[in-house]
Amino acid sequence: MTFNTLDTIMAFDVQKIRADFPILSRIVNGYPLVYFDNAATSQKPKIVIDSIVDYYSNYNANIHRGVHSLSQEATDAYEIARQKIQHHFNAEKSHEIIFTSGTTHGINMVASGFSKLLKVGDEIIVSAMEHHSNIVPWQMLCEKTGAVLKVIPMSEEGTLVISEYEELLSENTKLVFVNHVSNALGTINPIKAIIEKAHKKGAAVLIDGAQATSHLMIDFQELDVDFYVTSAHKMCGPTGVGILYGKEVWLNKLPPYQGGGEMIKTVTFEKTTYADLPHKFEAGTPNISGGIAFGVAIDYLNSVGLINIQEYENMLLKYATKKLLEIEGLKIYGTSSEKTTVISFNIKGIHPYDIGTIVDKLGVAVRTGHHCTQPIMDFYKISGTVRASFAFYNTKIEIDIFIEAVKKAKMMLS
Ligand SMILES: *Cc1c(COP(=O)(O)O)cnc(C)c1O
Repeated sequence: MTFNTLDTIMAFDVQKIRADFPILSRIVNGYPLVYFDNAATSQKPKIVIDSIVDYYSNYNANIHRGVHSLSQEATDAYEIARQKIQHHFNAEKSHEIIFTSGTTHGINMVASGFSKLLKVGDEIIVSAMEHHSNIVPWQMLCEKTGAVLKVIPMSEEGTLVISEYEELLSENTKLVFVNHVSNALGTINPIKAIIEKAHKKGAAVLIDGAQATSHLMIDFQELDVDFYVTSAHKMCGPTGVGILYGKEVWLNKLPPYQGGGEMIKTVTFEKTTYADLPHKFEAGTPNISGGIAFGVAIDYLNSVGLINIQEYENMLLKYATKKLLEIEGLKIYGTSSEKTTVISFNIKGIHPYDIGTIVDKLGVAVRTGHHCTQPIMDFYKISGTVRASFAFYNTKIEIDIFIEAVKKAKMMLS
């Protein structure tokens, strides 16, 4: 397969897909937008945007409370979205899907719940390539409970050292937390093996899937994962909504995260009993339009097909990697053979921020900095990288524009 035919060979037509995303026709700084910051947030197709307008225009009402028709319509739409999410990820039960405000919220819910279950001397294992949102809650949890935090180290190419992980696991291990895909490096971690090994010691596993769910087909039951979190906004859905998946037995074990409306069965001043799942974890009025739009985003991704997406994105990744490495002095961080479309790089002697600023002047949006993963930056002894991250609506031509912009930045800065 040659790269020349990249834009046309696939089962889907990238130009047709691009037409679904209004923002992709924007002009930025006088140039057509090249949006390569998909790992921070994805763009949204029109049907997702329209579903939010439709909700507020036609059936805005609070859910699960009213007997009136609008409330029923809103409740039905919200619960249908939950079922779509359940089926997409093959969860056994729809009440194992808890709506959250996003990945960070989901992680904090689990961390908070475990603060009641852990004791001094228990151990939590995290990986060396976690997002800050996956480190800080565990540090807080350890401070609160006297549990000890252990870290799975990583190798130079940006993969977890599984033999070291095996050494860290013990009868004291109660929880293992690993991201499915690293947002700074793109590495796809071997989570099935990580989960299996943890279960042999009786430990539960939470996977941060924020960077995985827009690229990979994921089956919660097949993985046998205990908890899995992700955000809609990285999957063509809106900001401010996400899910915490938990196996029913675990969600029943954890105490509720917040008190409030919706999460109770009965309330007296002596004692409150909690509502059944999922409402136990959904106190207060949720992001109703967001949940509904998340369901629409999942339908959209499935209409394109995650298998097609993966295949197409892999070719974009290979093409961009090859082209970037032709630039003298350029180094890529994260060179695992199992990667999503994240390319983190630096050019010798040039600050990543300066590259990001110049390419932006040419209409190209990339991320620069530590990407909320300072431990990874410390590992490579750098302050940050330039990160380009692609989605299935990006094209080979955009990569060419990006490469030219990087070359221009290099020329201006060296
Ligand atoms: C984006 C991201 C998060 C945080 O997601 P929010 O939607 O900001 O809560 C956590 N982990 C990883 C790997 C991410 O990429």
